[in-house]
Amino acid sequence: MEEDTAMESCIFCKIINQEIPGHVIYEDEHVLAFLDISQTTKGHTLVIPKKHVENVFEMNETDMTQVFSVVPKLANSLRETFKAAGMNIINNNDKVAGQTVFHYHVHLIPRYHMTDTIKIQFSNHMDSYPPEKLRTLKDEVKNNLTANG
Ligand code: AMP
Ligand code: ZN
Repeated sequence: MEEDTAMESCIFCKIINQEIPGHVIYEDEHVLAFLDISQTTKGHTLVIPKKHVENVFEMNETDMTQVFSVVPKLANSLRETFKAAGMNIINNNDKVAGQTVFHYHVHLIPRYHMTDTIKIQFSNHMDSYPPEKLRTLKDEVKNNLTANG
């Protein structure tokens, strides 16, 4: 029931169902790709599964494989079409990570110049993470992975 409500109000499900317009560049049985309305850079595209899943935490291997199986072809097509010099491929999961539309999507953002108005900055906290600390973190994750199969 909760799932039904989420799908009914989901803007990307509405694009899939052609209830609202989308500038679709690719479609198959499982995946849709359309231009992002914001056009962060020219050609900014979203790739989504047709199945309503909120984000990576709800997805299985098949869902993810289907989405990413079309990414190389679309990335090359966007790069060639718009003569892009590079591309950022980004996916935000949950509010704290910047997700605003809660239907999984991968952003393909063609890059033309170092000064394109997009800001992705990885800070460097190496000083706070010496090798022994990384080893502890690694063990924690590995143990959790094993415990969860
Ligand atoms: P995120 O912040 O990662 O959840 O990204 C959501 C993206 O969806 C933003 O880049 C929006 O510009 C885009 N968006 C929202 N509504 C639409 C729409 N109707 N058609 C195309 N893109 C949309
Ligand atoms: Zn949806």
